[in-house]
Amino acid sequence: MNDRQKYIEGAKRIVIKVGTSTLTYKNGLLNLYMVEHLVRQIADLQSSGKEVVVVTSGAIGAGIGKLGLKEKPKDIPENQAAAAVGQGILMNTYEKFFSEYGKTVGQILITREDISHKDRLLNAKNTFSVLLERGVIPIVNENDAIVVDEIKFGDNDTLSARVASIIGADLLILLSDIDGLYNDNPKDNPNAVLIDEVMQIDDKIVGCAGGAGSELGTGGMATKIKAAKIATSNGVSMIIANGEVRDIIRNVISCENVGTLFVAKKNS
Ligand code: GLU
Repeated sequence: MNDRQKYIEGAKRIVIKVGTSTLTYKNGLLNLYMVEHLVRQIADLQSSGKEVVVVTSGAIGAGIGKLGLKEKPKDIPENQAAAAVGQGILMNTYEKFFSEYGKTVGQILITREDISHKDRLLNAKNTFSVLLERGVIPIVNENDAIVVDEIKFGDNDTLSARVASIIGADLLILLSDIDGLYNDNPKDNPNAVLIDEVMQIDDKIVGCAGGAGSELGTGGMATKIKAAKIATSNGVSMIIANGEVRDIIRNVISCENVGTLFVAKKNS
């Protein structure tokens, strides 16, 4: 049995994070083809007996698209207003597509403060438990419309790693617009090689991650490595894979050699 089979095949509770660049066009409007493609795979994954939680970005992006703004606003209230508009569009779209496949979704908007208080953390855990018990697919995002900087996760890579840790997930799949972690920036270096598996997140691995994210999203590779640290140290394996590749979730789950797998630490 190889590591992929060991850490992926048996995974029962799976968190899937989808980034803004995968869900929206550059103008912020939702890429319905992509959303439906992902929803179909996630619905099917749940039908196969897995518990699935979706952490979705794209609220601010979709709000920007709907409001016809040219770019991501610099001003915080403008951004939060875009999030308020976009979150509704996102949920409406997920609700529509998932219900076409007979699935029920539930929205959870969360802030860092919600999980830093014992009682609120317990509450959040209980809500996830009940939703999963009832076969609901929770759709999670940061509560961008009201959250202030001090209590912000700031990016959904970190948020998804926290959620995966809180609910005791077995696997976190981060879907991005890149195939995984490379040993150098593939945009600058055509000889950069995709790293298949990471057992230990050391300085060399941190060094492989550049900084930049996409125009509408927040995270780049650096936040994904930070997420990998949180997830693996809480016993959750994580894989970074390209959300734009056809059937990517199926390919990950059937242990094909795609993306970069970060192996969970054993003693947690
Ligand atoms: N929560 C933000 C949104 O929905 C995205 C944060 C991120 O890009 O990681 O727009």
